[in-house]
Amino acid sequence: MRATQLLAPTLRENPAEAEITSHQLLVRAGFIRKVAAGIYTYLPLAWQVIKKIIKIVREEMDRAGGQEILMPIIQPAEIWHESGRWEVYGPELFRLQDRHNRDFCLGPTHEEIITDLIRNEVNSYRQLPLCLYQIQNKYRDEKRPRFGLMRGREFIMKDLYSFDRDEAGLENSYQKMFQAYLRIFKRCGLQVFPVEAEAGAIGGKDTHEFMVLAETGEATIVFCSRQSCGYASNVEKAASPVQYSAQGRASYAGDSEELLPLKEVYTPNIRTVEEITAFLNVPAQRLIKSLLYETEKGIVAALIRGDRELNEVKLQKVLDVQRVELAGAETVERITKAGVGFTGPVNLEGVQLIADPEVMAVKNAVSGANKNDTHLVNVNAERDFKPGLIADLRLVKAGDPCPDCLFPLKEAKGIEVGQTFKLGEKYSRTLGANYLDENGRQKPLVMGCYGIGITRTMAAVVEQRHDENGIIWPVSIAPFHAVIIPVNQKDNRQVDIAESIYNLLQSTGIEVVLDDRPERAGVKFKDADLIGYPWRIVVGNKAVEKGKVELRNRATKEEGLFSPEEIVGALNLTPYT
Ligand code: ATP
Ligand code: MG
Repeated sequence: MRATQLLAPTLRENPAEAEITSHQLLVRAGFIRKVAAGIYTYLPLAWQVIKKIIKIVREEMDRAGGQEILMPIIQPAEIWHESGRWEVYGPELFRLQDRHNRDFCLGPTHEEIITDLIRNEVNSYRQLPLCLYQIQNKYRDEKRPRFGLMRGREFIMKDLYSFDRDEAGLENSYQKMFQAYLRIFKRCGLQVFPVEAEAGAIGGKDTHEFMVLAETGEATIVFCSRQSCGYASNVEKAASPVQYSAQGRASYAGDSEELLPLKEVYTPNIRTVEEITAFLNVPAQRLIKSLLYETEKGIVAALIRGDRELNEVKLQKVLDVQRVELAGAETVERITKAGVGFTGPVNLEGVQLIADPEVMAVKNAVSGANKNDTHLVNVNAERDFKPGLIADLRLVKAGDPCPDCLFPLKEAKGIEVGQTFKLGEKYSRTLGANYLDENGRQKPLVMGCYGIGITRTMAAVVEQRHDENGIIWPVSIAPFHAVIIPVNQKDNRQVDIAESIYNLLQSTGIEVVLDDRPERAGVKFKDADLIGYPWRIVVGNKAVEKGKVELRNRATKEEGLFSPEEIVGALNLTPYT
């Protein structure tokens, strides 16, 4: 490809709205252009990369026994009503109507469509196991589309669905996919880290997310500091070990501490944990934080120790609701008859109380009094209030003990590039997808589903592989393997040598760009680094005088002089480096 013919509009400046490196670089290097929030056009360089990622994904899915299909993007509402997800999916689902006012949606995922297909087409154990996949656009009207391709509203996904006879079959399919995922990301030059996760709107029981460690990741991961332990989880899912609650109690308020009488104290305009601990001179462990949440099932007061943060995903899960939103000031005042900062569990009417086990263990605690400028001291669970539900609500953080081995946990940020789910019988039961076993008995199919964000993977590679000058593509998914730059475009001798190397490389199957633009060499060098070609071949005076061109590796910055004939041998096209 000649640079004069390649649509790769590079920019000197970072686009103002791009907050993270991959977004900045993909726009600046001329890979993507925005059409609307979370909706992008992939220019030639991006499409080259995407096609290569897709090729790797396809090879690994096929190798693991997958068969490729293509399902429609437009899905009729009926099947979503049948699965119960038309309501559950909420505003993230792009909904539309046809000319007859029939409801449809743009597929955010395809469990419904595929289960409908399989319930009609598969009826015997002889047809199992079955793994079907597709690679296509997905649509999710994300609340905050941002970070370029990381969180789009239209994005490319690979989704595979496995159908097995039983749990053992599912386990087998799941392991195959798990291994295929590790291979895919490795082949894309990414370091990934599988972690335990929550299933979210997809549902099911066991699930893993494949995380790319990056400061800009939107997910928080906790993992055990003891390498041989191997525990790693999305913080949304990470459990607080029960032993820890007991230790917390022992180290702070021992069993021997006697229960003192409940008392009101005047706390003028003292609202936050920091203010109260300073004002009353008590440690934050002694506070009960009471947080009002609105859910579709009503308002709940979630109680957590003052030194802890609440994990909203745990709250949502234990309440079995779709929506948990911190109540606004108006609701707080209506329910507690006091301003924000004075909510407490004692005599709090009209809401469900749910408490973290640690709250139950604090003796003579401090809480809001549901009265302006007032707190209660010597609050004791069971005696002064009785929660309807006691459940782990704590957001685990670095330093907390590992739930498996009690060693301290570490924390990191991650980008979720893929997720695997053991769905079990969730969809096959609701949609009636059954098969007949060897004995002629009808059984529900046991399902799994497995997604990879293709476009997010491209962005994650940029996030993990760049320097101050631009992107550093691994050979395996680079838009082109090499770029040839004649230093002086007006020097015909240089141009001729560059052309001959261009022809030579092309004839050996090396994907190469000849930068034949009438630009200064400096501009071409900058663009080459920005775009991130793994190899740069510079044809300058030395080529004319000594027959040597300069070969430079983008990742290692190693340089060497070679004769044109030596170049093909010198290019290391080891895919993942
Ligand atoms: P997230 O938690 O980041 O919103 P998700 O868990 O909802 O993602 P899945 O349903 O597991 O996403 O989808 C499978 C894969 O699709 C994800 O692992 C991710 O790589 C990709 N993906 C999901 N949402 C988006 C999006 N809005 N933009 C780009 N890629 C996405
Ligand atoms: Mg996910």
